[in-house]
Amino acid sequence: MVRVNQNYLKLPGSYLFSEVARRISAYSAAHPEAQITKLSIGDVTRPLVPAVVEAMHKAVDEMGTYEGFHGYGPEQGYPFLREAIAQHDYAARGMDIKPDEIFVSDGAKSDCGNIGDIFGVDNVVAVCDPVYPVYVDTNAMAGRAGDFQEELGRWNKLIYMPCVESNGFSPEPPKEKADIIYLCFPNNPTGAMATREQLKVWVDYANANGSVILYDSAYEAFITEEDVPHSIFEIEGARTCAIEFRSFSKTAGFTGNRCAYTVVPMELERDGASLNKMWNRRQCTKFNGVPYVVQRGAAAVYTPEGHAQIMESIAYYQNNAKVIREGLSSAGFQCFGGVNAPYIWVKTPNGMGSWDFFDLVLDRANVATTPGAGFGPSGEGYVRLTAFGDAEATKRAVEQVKSVL
Ligand code: PLP
Repeated sequence: MVRVNQNYLKLPGSYLFSEVARRISAYSAAHPEAQITKLSIGDVTRPLVPAVVEAMHKAVDEMGTYEGFHGYGPEQGYPFLREAIAQHDYAARGMDIKPDEIFVSDGAKSDCGNIGDIFGVDNVVAVCDPVYPVYVDTNAMAGRAGDFQEELGRWNKLIYMPCVESNGFSPEPPKEKADIIYLCFPNNPTGAMATREQLKVWVDYANANGSVILYDSAYEAFITEEDVPHSIFEIEGARTCAIEFRSFSKTAGFTGNRCAYTVVPMELERDGASLNKMWNRRQCTKFNGVPYVVQRGAAAVYTPEGHAQIMESIAYYQNNAKVIREGLSSAGFQCFGGVNAPYIWVKTPNGMGSWDFFDLVLDRANVATTPGAGFGPSGEGYVRLTAFGDAEATKRAVEQVKSVL
């Protein structure tokens, strides 16, 4: 009889967002008059910008002709997109990333999960706590996480690096030796950003220990402060120890369009093998590329009009973040993040539990949040609010919270 991957059987149910949805539905059913504003959603709400729409329309028309038809494209992405990424996201900021170090894909989520294919099962993995759950669950599926300890809400073989108020929500290297280190800045869920000095400590640690940093900067476009690193490759030494994930999802409203990319530098080698070559091999074997039409849409983001248009959309969300952060701070809540990220991490009052505070805010203010405890043990005592909603609804929600809590 076939044996299934036993690691899947160890996964706890994906509890967080289903439980949030369940509690919202139950509340709505009991209070049909209540108008609930969801500051819990992690998805964009603004439409694709005109430059992207136009480029995609044009590409569809091309596809309907013999001359312009595109079948399977290069698994790594079309040169026009890889070159635009190298130029605008890296060279323009002083980084030398070559197009053949860039692998276009259908999402940072897929890449963060799939990258595990090129690493052995016996590596020690370190994750931030709280954490984007994909890093944890994909390592659990691969057998690198050990067993889930229900009572502690954590896996026994993973290193959890607490990201808490005292370290500015940016972790220090652990005492144990970590082989694979996931870092995410701007951070989901805390909205925190790491400094150049903090990232340098990590790069030095990884180079000294032969570790690899998996750096997720899916929210890079939301950075507003000067002198904050936009990429791990701004840090000296990163080319020999880091892989970076980026996405058009939040940058350009591509969550339903699917386009992202991963950078694997040529210098990055472990066990005498080139990780660039290994990732290329993995992608060519298991992935057949992003649709031509979508890649044309993504490339339009780098035109002067496209860039101006997406920056306007990002500014809209950034303003929501400001409204939430300033509004709740003025009401006495301790708020973190929301400056270089679309997420605001709010401390619950008087040490209240995340889920109790979620229920209280839902009941009193009709506002949905995401309980921090769902992102890991160190998320207890916080809720995450997102800036991806409608501006008027966001303002109204903040006023409601201020007036009743
Ligand atoms: N990385 C982080 C930290 C995220 O929060 C998300 C989406 O919420 C992703 C990656 C997924 O990006 P994509 O839509 O490109 O798969």
